[in-house]
Formats: sequence, structure tokens, C-alpha cells
Amino acid sequence: MVEGKESEMKINILHAGYCTAPEHLAIQGGRWRAIHFPAMFALFRHPKFGAMLFDTGYSYRFFDETKKFPRRIYRWMTPVHLREEDLVVNQLADFDLKPADVTRVFISHFHADHIASLPDLAWSRFVYLPHAFSRLRHSTPSQDLKRAFLRGLIPSDFDSRSRKVDVTKPILLSEEYAPFKTGYDLLGDESIIGVELPGHADGQMGVFARDDDDKLFFFVADAAWLKRSVVDNRPPHKMANLLFSDPEAYRQTLGDLHSYYLTHPDTIIVPSHCEETIRSLENKPAR
Ligand SMILES: [Zn+2]
Repeated sequence: MVEGKESEMKINILHAGYCTAPEHLAIQGGRWRAIHFPAMFALFRHPKFGAMLFDTGYSYRFFDETKKFPRRIYRWMTPVHLREEDLVVNQLADFDLKPADVTRVFISHFHADHIASLPDLAWSRFVYLPHAFSRLRHSTPSQDLKRAFLRGLIPSDFDSRSRKVDVTKPILLSEEYAPFKTGYDLLGDESIIGVELPGHADGQMGVFARDDDDKLFFFVADAAWLKRSVVDNRPPHKMANLLFSDPEAYRQTLGDLHSYYLTHPDTIIVPSHCEETIRSLENKPAR
């Protein structure tokens, strides 16, 4: 990404539903009370590429897919709250956009709270790191459960609409992005840069994006659940390691985010489920 390159892209931070889970699971030393984990998604409106999303939050399909045991466990572990007006398709309407206007969805990883609206976006291309999906493609129902993957959320024409990131063509990031050294120029114009954030789930991808107000956002998905984790370099409870694809890599990624935070106070770091962060940034047009 060219340093300080001007952008004409508008960025809106939104969320589609939330789940609750104990704070002490999300961060070591957290309290024993349940907190809200909003399912963030971001809307990018790019002058050339149109409307695009980073993740999609929940949709009612989450409930359909978790009706039966054993997938119902997912619902018990993370009780989900979702209102009609929270649905991505309804929030797009607030921007005078239709689902068909969404040209691309950048998928951070394939947990249900990030992909539940993919089936609603019938014309979108799906952009993701290939290894985020390769192990899921043929996994068994019990592996799906362990990986918090709800297969029914994947549209039937997913493959033909997939535009996997070409991992053979990374770009070198300038010193400004240290300690992140390489990334992927997702649109070819350096306006959205994907970086791998390993550990939480296979092939998890975060993105850097600059808006027309010259603010640089760093969407870090689930590499940290709370901004406080990044600020204090404080990981989740050890129990959360059971949910992670690679706990050691998770810890390393969190350390990288922490050093990035210390040296880049102006970048807006957005963990997908940090209620304090999402509330402070959420910007939707008046209904
Ligand atoms: Zn996740």
C-alpha cells in the first residue's frame, strides 16, 4: 500500500446481530459476566468497484442451520440475538443499495457469524485466502462442529463465484505496516490490502483500507475479540485455545497486532466483535 495514498472510498462499519459469551473467555482477567459480541461487517463503497463487504454478520439462516443436534450446540454456546432491521440486506437498503449491488465480499474466515448472509448476495464474488476453505471443503460433520463451520451457509454456486486470493503474488508492505511485511492487493489498486492473521481459524484474513477522509482502518476479524486484548497484548482465556486452529500462531498474531498498535496510534483497529469499538465507529444513515 502506497503510503498516504489518497482514497475516494467510503467505509461504513455496521453489525448484523450479536451473540453473548462470558467476558473472561474473551480476555484473561475478564469478568464472569456475559457481554455482547456484535457480528461486525463493513461496507466499502469504491468509486470503481462499487459496493463491497468485509464479512456479513449473522442472518436468520444461522437459526435454521442450528436447529438440530449436534449443531444446536453452537447456539447454546453463543446465544444469538438478531432483529429484522439488523439483516445485511435491510441495512444495505439504508444506503439505497440492493443485495445485487454488492460486487464482492471479502471473507475473513468461515465462522458462521462472518458468512451467514452469503446466500443473500446472489451476484457477489467471494474473496478469501484459499487455505481458509480448503480444509473445510471435505471435512466431516464432527470436524465442521469443532471448526464452528455451518456448511449450509455456503451458497450452492460458491465455487464459481469464488475469487481466491492469489497467494503466489504477495506485495511487500512499506515500513509503515511493520511488523506486517507482506499482504495482498485485493483489488489491484492498493485500496484494500489483505494480510494473513493466522491462529484463530485457517487462513484468516484481515484487511487494511483507507477511506475518503484519509482514515486508515485495520479490520482484524477475530485475531483479537476485544480492542483491550490488542492494547494490553492480553490473550483470551486458555479455554479459547480449543476453538483456535493454531493457538501458538494466535498468540504470535496478537503480539504483532500489539506492536502495530503501539507504533501506529492513528490507525483504527477494528476487531469484529469488540462492542466498544463497533459502537464508537458504527455509522449508518438515518432511517
Ligand atoms: Zn471466528
